[in-house]
Amino acid sequence: MTLLPLAALISTTLFASTAAHASDWPESFSTCAAQGGTCDDGTSKRQVSYGIKNKWVLKSLSGKVACTTATFGSDPYPGVDKKCALGPLDGGTTPPTTPPTTPPTTPPTTPPTTPPTTPPAASDPVTQAAPATGWASYSTGTRGGAAALQKDVFLVSSASQLLSALKTGGGRPMQIKIYGTIDMAADGPLKSVAEQGVRSLISLPSNTTLIGAGPNAGIVNGRIMIKGVDNVIVRNLTIANPCDIAPVWDPKDTSTGNWNSRYDGLNVDKSTHVWIDHNTFTDAPRTDDQFPKENGKLKQCHDGALDIKNGADYVTVSNNVFKLHEKNTLVGSSDDTTSDDGHLSVTFHGNHYMDISGRSPRVRFGKVHVYNNYYQGDRDAKLYPHHYSIGVGYKAKIVSQHNAFDVIGAKECGNVVESSGSSGKTGAIIDSGSLLNGAALGMGGGSCKFSSAIGWTLPYTPAVIDASTVRESVLRNAGAGKLVVR
Ligand code: CA
Ligand code: CA
Repeated sequence: MTLLPLAALISTTLFASTAAHASDWPESFSTCAAQGGTCDDGTSKRQVSYGIKNKWVLKSLSGKVACTTATFGSDPYPGVDKKCALGPLDGGTTPPTTPPTTPPTTPPTTPPTTPPTTPPAASDPVTQAAPATGWASYSTGTRGGAAALQKDVFLVSSASQLLSALKTGGGRPMQIKIYGTIDMAADGPLKSVAEQGVRSLISLPSNTTLIGAGPNAGIVNGRIMIKGVDNVIVRNLTIANPCDIAPVWDPKDTSTGNWNSRYDGLNVDKSTHVWIDHNTFTDAPRTDDQFPKENGKLKQCHDGALDIKNGADYVTVSNNVFKLHEKNTLVGSSDDTTSDDGHLSVTFHGNHYMDISGRSPRVRFGKVHVYNNYYQGDRDAKLYPHHYSIGVGYKAKIVSQHNAFDVIGAKECGNVVESSGSSGKTGAIIDSGSLLNGAALGMGGGSCKFSSAIGWTLPYTPAVIDASTVRESVLRNAGAGKLVVR
């Protein structure tokens, strides 16, 4: 290898990384050699990728690394010269943190009810169990694939690798780590409804942890289904809410009709012990302003971001960012599914709802705990105007604690908490400590006269922080790219 002066080496590297197709290596990596060349990986082990065109394999290596199939043990794209790129040091780096976009709010006037907890620094996000701060910890708890054998740990960076890993486990504990962004439609456009239904589907079996590695791991053109299974964890992924290629006009949806679409970013159906943590759900890059109006209505191609239904139980949705979306989360999809009563036990905490029009969440039947979430929106926004946040639907039993709503134009409790169903089919909600634009929310009076007969008590002990500190805490902590995943 020819020795170059440091400045020349840096400019060569920069040139290569901008000139080559960026998905020849995982997004946070930087290229170090072409096929047959050598990477100098230094003395500490780090992730090295070998591949091209969004297909690569990864290995943890140190020292001089030959960029060859022999080094990596498999050829991700036979017949084409590949590139090698260096990733983060194994265990050495901390992820970039996004600073709050605005200064923290004034200190709390009352002390938090219990001190905030931070996860133990030593815990590995890949094997961490759902903490005792939400319903997922109930009874047998949620450990996902924590106990996976080495043969059931998969590093994947393409749709085909992901789908083949999912077929492998046969119910044994399994860990799947995603590197970079996986495009489920990478092998060609989705041409029909039937084809989209099949190719977009990412169906997770019992005892699985699906987790993003690095700050840029995610899924586009996909839909994650957790259906009829137990013990599943999804963490650290940026999930682009899928866009139905053929929305259906329903003339009976509202008095003037509406467009409906089929797919949710993630759907929990008839499953137990599920932990959805530190993900980012968004309509971007295909936001609603890019679609036409037909029959006088937006031809909406998105359905839910994260829906939970059909008797699903013991679910915790924590520390996620939900942004740029209309109908975010249903807990219970129909007043007629009366078998949901007694189930749909779900906790939402530490989530950031940013420019979400409604359903954050909208609840039927469920024993739902909503605490320390941060809601940000604008009633008059052109794109994703805020309509409401928490929907108190038929037989809902909601415990709300110390949520913070910063919604421009929201003047009263009823702007953020509303009865989403017909007047005869409402539910119950109690609240303590929540703030609307810095003032007490006013649950129980004025525009928020709901039944307080929720009929259950928390079976776990949450670490609730004061609503006045929620904004700062959530902006610092929520979303994909904040866990250090090796
Ligand atoms: Ca749905
Ligand atoms: Ca309202």
